[in-house]
Amino acid sequence: MAMKYLSGMAYKKLSFFSILAFLLIMDCLPAHAQNNPHQLKRIVLDAGHGGKDIGTPHFQLSMDEKDITLAIVLKLGKIIQDSMPDMQVIYVRKTDVYYKPAEHHEIANKANGDLFISVHVNSTAGRRIRVPNGYHYVGKGKHRRRVRSYKTVTRREATEASGTMTFVLGLHRNPQKSKAIENYSETATDEPGMLDADDPTTQILVAQYTQTFLSRSIDFASLVEQNLAKSGRNSYGVKQAGLEVLAGSAMPGVLIETGFINNPEDEKYLNSEIGQQQIALAIYRSIKSYKAELARKAKVSAIQN
Ligand SMILES: [Zn+2]
Repeated sequence: MAMKYLSGMAYKKLSFFSILAFLLIMDCLPAHAQNNPHQLKRIVLDAGHGGKDIGTPHFQLSMDEKDITLAIVLKLGKIIQDSMPDMQVIYVRKTDVYYKPAEHHEIANKANGDLFISVHVNSTAGRRIRVPNGYHYVGKGKHRRRVRSYKTVTRREATEASGTMTFVLGLHRNPQKSKAIENYSETATDEPGMLDADDPTTQILVAQYTQTFLSRSIDFASLVEQNLAKSGRNSYGVKQAGLEVLAGSAMPGVLIETGFINNPEDEKYLNSEIGQQQIALAIYRSIKSYKAELARKAKVSAIQN
């Protein structure tokens, strides 16, 4: 969910500094992250939003996006730690705490992660409407009169769009074939910190990322969508978006939209222990397959060398 309280200017500054930080990191990265593409020892789990940034507000039930993402991430972390004792799990947050958008990937970079998994919840765009909001006075003396005030609010309605999609970094969206996607295409990438696709620095950054991390990110994203579909969810597949949280993390990474909060069935599922556990399990199975695939590729490259 976009952080609407950030002005356009704030976004620009944010992106600029994050990109600078990223470029610096790329230059002085420890060798393993760039040179050993087959390593998977450290996984960074990013529960989207947190604290004063609630993400998408709850619809008919009680959990806001930040609560759902944290619940899923904590379950996922536990499954990984129980089943893969050698895997190091780094949490961006384990509690309801606020970090600036750039801090999410900075934490991942400091931890030297091999894979970045950002968990989010989607929603379709609300309609912006003007509603009465008390009264105010205009004019002076005998011309002074009371007039109605209005404010603009976003009213969200229930959507029929239901299911998951997983984003990897890219400046252009994949061609959208599904009719359902057309209904919410504007919000399909409505997460904090969208990169400016026309900015030359951004283009360099994305090109570097693409070369180093994109194919592994797509491999993992495909597994996530496959496993979510196997657990009975509708999958919209792998998408690309200029998401700063991915661009800023110097490792393969994905951002998973785990469902639509303003779809009552999705919301019920996302609020339930079983739904959260099933999503966590689907992501865990994807990690397992991804790790096996990396090990297989490591063997092949060892034979070739
Ligand atoms: Zn979000």
